[in-house]
Amino acid sequence: MENIEKGDLITTGKAKSLYSTNQADFLVMHYRDDTSAFDGKKIESLEGKGTINNKFNAFIMEYLEKEGIPTHFERLLSETDSLVKKLEMAPVECVVRNVAAGSICKRLGLKEGLDLNPPTFEFFYKDDDLGDPMINEYHIKSFGWATTEQVDQMQEKTFQVNDALKKLFSDAGMILIDYKLEFGSFKGELLLGDEFTPDGCRVWDVETREKLDKDRFRQGLGDVVESYQIMAKRLGVI
Ligand code: ADP
Ligand code: UDP
Repeated sequence: MENIEKGDLITTGKAKSLYSTNQADFLVMHYRDDTSAFDGKKIESLEGKGTINNKFNAFIMEYLEKEGIPTHFERLLSETDSLVKKLEMAPVECVVRNVAAGSICKRLGLKEGLDLNPPTFEFFYKDDDLGDPMINEYHIKSFGWATTEQVDQMQEKTFQVNDALKKLFSDAGMILIDYKLEFGSFKGELLLGDEFTPDGCRVWDVETREKLDKDRFRQGLGDVVESYQIMAKRLGVI
């Protein structure tokens, strides 16, 4: 594919912006420094976050492709931009948890750090105004957000990602606590979309259990971008 030209701004999300291109099937995904938490209630701009997340995502998506998980990622275009396939997104977040942290602790009264064996899976409806409520697969089918086959594939692929990434992080001295994925369809095929970056997962140092992910921002622990860079260096992203 040659001469991709960035076109008009299509959507501005909380952390990324999507632009059209001169090819109908492709979009430019632009990673901004904007960082948000608590459904957009806490917002800050963190210098360098867009760049590190763009590179981090490219590395993980290419790794997942090699592991047999098809994604929307095509290639890096610049420090902050990537070329992706244009998907019809399911308005659903797929979360796998290896260790209890975040919302599951509040919801079920679990102590942070509890091992979840086997890992657990949750669906959330992507709607900030409603606070991204937890849903089940029947909701997804009844509301027509995805078909039965797509729901099955979302679960299967999200667990496949877990097998691949748990080992990748563990080989680099880190624990993959949990993460969120989004899927969409492209010409009838379900592909992993959106991003896999420290903004959308939890990762702890295996020895100290220090948090290296967006919880540093959520909990005001400081050194947010620096921690993302540490994670990236350990994986060989940068
Ligand atoms: P949010 O929607 O949570 O504010 P972002 O700032 O990350 O988040 O915005 C990115 C938007 O782009 C999300 O709505 C996401 O579902 C959507 N998206 C991700 N990948 C693709 C894709 N390949 N094609 C179309 N839309 C996508
Ligand atoms: N997550 C995300 N976007 C969301 C909600 C969650 O990327 O809108 C990620 C989050 O970073 C964590 C995992 O999904 O890695 C599980 O999040 P949780 O349900 O614990 O919600 P939180 O308490 O983080 O809002």
